Amino acid sequence: MTRFIFITGGVVSSLGKGLASAALGALLQARGLKVRLRKLDPYLNVDPGTMSPYQHGEVYVTDDGAETDLDLGHYERYVGVAARKSDCVTTGKIYSTVIGRERRGEYLGATVQVIPHVTDAIKEFIKADLDGEDFVLCEIGGTVGDIESLPFLEAIRQLGNELGRERALFVHLTLVPWIASAGELKTKPTQHSAKELLGVGIQPDILLCRSEHPIPAAARKKIALFCNLSENRVIPALDVDTIYAVPTAYHAEGFDREVCRHFGIETKEPDLGPWQDVVARVRKPEGRVNVAIVGKYTNLPDSYKSLAEAMIHGGIANNVGVDLDWIDAEVFETESEALRQLEGVHGILVPGGFGERGSEGKIEAARFAREHRVPYFGICFGMQMAVIEAARHLADLPEAGSTEFGPCRHPVVGLMTEWMRGNTLERRNEESDLGGTMRLGAYETILASDSQVAKIYGTTRISERHRHRYEVNIAYKGRLEAAGLRFSGMSPDGLLPEIVELPDHPWFVGVQFHPELKSRPFEPHPLFTSFVRAAVDQSRLV
Ligand code: GLN
Repeated sequence: MTRFIFITGGVVSSLGKGLASAALGALLQARGLKVRLRKLDPYLNVDPGTMSPYQHGEVYVTDDGAETDLDLGHYERYVGVAARKSDCVTTGKIYSTVIGRERRGEYLGATVQVIPHVTDAIKEFIKADLDGEDFVLCEIGGTVGDIESLPFLEAIRQLGNELGRERALFVHLTLVPWIASAGELKTKPTQHSAKELLGVGIQPDILLCRSEHPIPAAARKKIALFCNLSENRVIPALDVDTIYAVPTAYHAEGFDREVCRHFGIETKEPDLGPWQDVVARVRKPEGRVNVAIVGKYTNLPDSYKSLAEAMIHGGIANNVGVDLDWIDAEVFETESEALRQLEGVHGILVPGGFGERGSEGKIEAARFAREHRVPYFGICFGMQMAVIEAARHLADLPEAGSTEFGPCRHPVVGLMTEWMRGNTLERRNEESDLGGTMRLGAYETILASDSQVAKIYGTTRISERHRHRYEVNIAYKGRLEAAGLRFSGMSPDGLLPEIVELPDHPWFVGVQFHPELKSRPFEPHPLFTSFVRAAVDQSRLV
């Protein structure tokens, strides 16, 4: 029997609902239960694929090619279950479904309305595509009180009623702020938020209260009294120093115990040993390395969320802390001395990106890494920039570029119009809509058996996630290889370059995919483990 846990947020946004959901998922899983996590986002975009990283943070891509919210990244990292298209829905997607049905006449002449047609579509989504899970955790994006989230709240209210208490639970995440001038924690915003939720017909079963300070018993009692719950259902969620400490902290406050009690489920106590181990390694590294991330959206670390996490995982695997130095690539174009910032770093990483702005700076960073023998990791756009750099400075093609920035004499990176996914042909062209025309999701790569990457992965066939429109142009393969850039990973049909490396360099790898999306704290991605190890070696040299 699948049970449903609905997680809403109140008072302010950015309280970490995604992490809270992921942590609860991890705790239930550690009790031996099968979980699945889903995100319901109230915005009108069909998916976040067309949103600016400044607006939305990273776009997380699933194996089956969905462009989703970054919270799905937290879910995967915490519970290790690969997310699917059916785990992320937005108002935009729900409305397109409903309007599509209306146009096809499927509503048989009815007046199509938010209740019941939109709410029914939301409920269908919540219950669809399940596979014997004990729990489905559904996080509702936004904050209670937003106009946008009303249809979602109405849908989960109805579901709560239909499923009954034994199959549904409502968790509400709020803030208990510290008012410095009064020297007190204030419970009023939480009381108001719970009331707001009650106003749409939902009585929270558990309140998770974010706070910078320990919540005294009296305050907990007050919240319980005003919000209609027992005191042990008011769970303090204090700030922690690393996000990997969240599951153990919640467990210590009895979160998972109360969830199980609500449903009348008895399980073994969760084994949190692996989480404690990860936290211990993050807190007490044996050394530190310094890696420069040369990108575009560097002032908003959320736009590279999975990347930052994967670097932490690489550090965990090597018992070191990794300090990330976020550098806006444009400084290398405007300030002549700026490249000196890269002197002394132990690794340089150019992450994914779109558009011409900053690209010359990234090319300069790749050149610096190559010439100064600093470990270089190019991811997607970072691989494309490394290829342009090699074409210009090793293969004597000074006019090499990418057609992403307009026509050029030597398009070493260009738009592929057709490619194979397994046995199916997929297509795109210059006129395709921006939404959903990229090579998206998991594709296989065949590695050259004597390459550095084959050694790193320990295999010659891998599957990694993609999200890009342009490809390294196979027409230049011969010329670039003759100049020293090895094409060590190719698509199974041999037409799409997936990995390049410089055999003569301590560590220089460019990958067309996004390995950071598959790195997990308990299973650091081999490329990140190896890159951080190379950075450790470099730190011994400088
Ligand atoms: N802009 C490049 C492309 O579309 C790279 C995309 C990326 O880095 N994800 O191919």
